[in-house]
Amino acid sequence: MPSKSGSSKSDTSVPENRLVEPMSWQTDNWQQLSRRLAEDQLPHALLLKGQTGVGKRQFALAFAQYVLCQNKQGEKICGQCRNCLLNKAGTHPDLLLIEPEERGKQIKVAQVRHMIEFTEKTPQQGGYRVVVLCPAEGMNTSSANALLKCLEEPGRDTLMLLVSEQVSSLLPTIRSRCQQILFSRPSTDEALQWLAHAIPDQERARTLLQLAAGEPSTALRYDKEGLLDQRDAMKSTLAELTRGQKTPAEIAIKWQNYDAVVVLEWLTLWLQEMIRYSAAQDKQFLATEDMQKMLAYIADRAGQKTLLETHAWLVKQRSLMLSQVNLNKQLLLESVLTRWLGLSV
Ligand SMILES: [Zn+2]
Repeated sequence: MPSKSGSSKSDTSVPENRLVEPMSWQTDNWQQLSRRLAEDQLPHALLLKGQTGVGKRQFALAFAQYVLCQNKQGEKICGQCRNCLLNKAGTHPDLLLIEPEERGKQIKVAQVRHMIEFTEKTPQQGGYRVVVLCPAEGMNTSSANALLKCLEEPGRDTLMLLVSEQVSSLLPTIRSRCQQILFSRPSTDEALQWLAHAIPDQERARTLLQLAAGEPSTALRYDKEGLLDQRDAMKSTLAELTRGQKTPAEIAIKWQNYDAVVVLEWLTLWLQEMIRYSAAQDKQFLATEDMQKMLAYIADRAGQKTLLETHAWLVKQRSLMLSQVNLNKQLLLESVLTRWLGLSV
């Protein structure tokens, strides 16, 4: 990873190799941009857009490293030049990665100010200065306005790579100053092939990919977060809740260690299954096989209208949670569980 404000040094004695490559399904995007770079036709700001989890951030970092390499081997970096070695160590002074300090939170104004200072300096290695900003929608209005100034008056040899999955929420003036590059989702086979390195168990990889709606990096994140194990634990606890063996407050304490976003993601997913089941009265829509019985029971008791209302409420809780700095997680979990229990009583 390139230099990043506020990040701590790693303690491991063998330094991690921070050089990255584009995903196998991004060849067209890569060829298009590397050709334009070779022809000196690259605009100073690119907006890499596409749905979440398809590898836009990795592409942006790989391309930033490629731009900086002094001895490109066709469409690949050399991996040996001074710039590549700096990127390998994650310490290149002319590459800046700006992203929220915590997933789902906003990019701070101080980070954007740091970025502006960075783009005003002369490149230390005499080539490009590259900024990767991810996600671009993670900025509030004042940050976005500061960025706009950067885009209007870019320093010489500056390349801004903005990554976004919600282009419509960006200021139109930001969108219009960037060349937009669309990233598409890989096929299931491409995604599974890519996941095979990290998740050798193919069945597990397939399940995670399904849960991630076909987005490979989301599937990988789910795996790292122990999502399947958490799901199993949540399943048994929810059964106890439904049977009246545990109260929402007791479970909220038990779930303190879970990522609250993930808890809400699971509950939302199960609600969606129940809504489809309830509309069609067909159990095949309860895709989570080992939970079919419980979900059918809850859905039958709640009815379509209540399920839809609860779904909308959950989605709202999730966005509220992401926008709050000092969140009382236990309280949030308790109210979510109370609502869940209310579906079947
Ligand atoms: Zn190189």
